Amino acid sequence: MNINANYDNLEQSYLFSTISKKVNEFIQNNPEKKVIRLGIGDVTLPLCKTVIEAMHKAVDEMGVQATFRGYGPEQGYDFLREAVKKYYAKRNVELELDEIFISDGAKSDLGNILDLFARDNTVLVPDPVYPVYVDTNIMAGRKVNYINANQDNEFLPLPDKNIKADIIYICSPNNPTGAVYNKEQLSEWVKYALENNAVILFDSAYESFISDESLPRSIYEIEGAKDCAIEFCSLSKTAGFTGTRCGYTIVPKNLGKLNKMWVRRQTTKFNGVPYIVQRGAEAVFTEEGHAEIMKNINYYKKNAKLISDTLKDCGIWHVGGKHSPYIWLRCPNNMKSWEFFDFLLENAQIVGTPGAGFGKNGEGYFRLTSFGSYENTVEAMQRFRQLFRN
Ligand SMILES: *Cc1c(COP(=O)(O)O)cnc(C)c1O
Repeated sequence: MNINANYDNLEQSYLFSTISKKVNEFIQNNPEKKVIRLGIGDVTLPLCKTVIEAMHKAVDEMGVQATFRGYGPEQGYDFLREAVKKYYAKRNVELELDEIFISDGAKSDLGNILDLFARDNTVLVPDPVYPVYVDTNIMAGRKVNYINANQDNEFLPLPDKNIKADIIYICSPNNPTGAVYNKEQLSEWVKYALENNAVILFDSAYESFISDESLPRSIYEIEGAKDCAIEFCSLSKTAGFTGTRCGYTIVPKNLGKLNKMWVRRQTTKFNGVPYIVQRGAEAVFTEEGHAEIMKNINYYKKNAKLISDTLKDCGIWHVGGKHSPYIWLRCPNNMKSWEFFDFLLENAQIVGTPGAGFGKNGEGYFRLTSFGSYENTVEAMQRFRQLFRN
């Protein structure tokens, strides 16, 4: 046999292992100091009450012959697809049930969707970027082109007619930058995709952090998007499902064969999300469930605002934080990302994520997250002020 040699082309990422090595060393040498982690990329608040109750009920059903369920539909139970359909309808996006596919999360589907595309497609990803988009394409042997996100475009690059692309990745609100596209900007991407016969893979994992009603939470709020975009969403950040696993992918029928191909792909290689989890997910979309998850999201957003306000007071350039759990800042005094990491750890015992770990345009930038506790965020920002106040 021959192995898939494309794996040799993957770049080894030492980002999170290097961070934890540096932090552990610091703690060993300074056991009396309290380190505050603002680099957490995972939710920390527990699942809400309505979700837990729905899952308990589903567990009980599984133990009774009359209500036991075996293999479910690969694309998800209709009760959950209906709930997703209604959720989109609230934003005037009309979907058909068989355009909605329940999944075990956005990351798997973002990788799996590539089964549908030929290898010789040109891929366009923004830099800095969520590494999954790049690595899944490298594994498949595809060439990846980058479009620059930087301070000039406020980390929201717009299409460049000189760059060819067949598959375009857009993540808004963005990880790592927290930047979010408005409708006009997203329309430009949709127009470009339609003109170039390209497909947009739109990652809306952080849509529920958007507070401004005029900002698009789904790409289908943009005219023409159903003719060129697949959308990936997840309850991971919305409802704390990172460990529970449930998401949904929209493949519009306007995309022609792609919808049927995705059905075929899923029915062949995937056997659905557990019934118990889908009942928990359904509860997220109820009125009570929604109120409860918004309480958690608002907790994170309060942290994000505190971080953003502190940076503003210190005169530090940043994006994100308003419609996202992430704040992306320009390292003060022209420090490089890792230089700033060490500086912040040494002088304020705050841990963040060096922007350089997300791509070449991340150099000189730094990501802070709002997934920590409020008390720790307050303390970290007091230390930050002491270091950087003008
Ligand atoms: C967290 C995250 C997701 C969600 O992934 P799941 O597999 O659903 O947990 C998707 N995209 C981005 C950019 C993320 O940061």
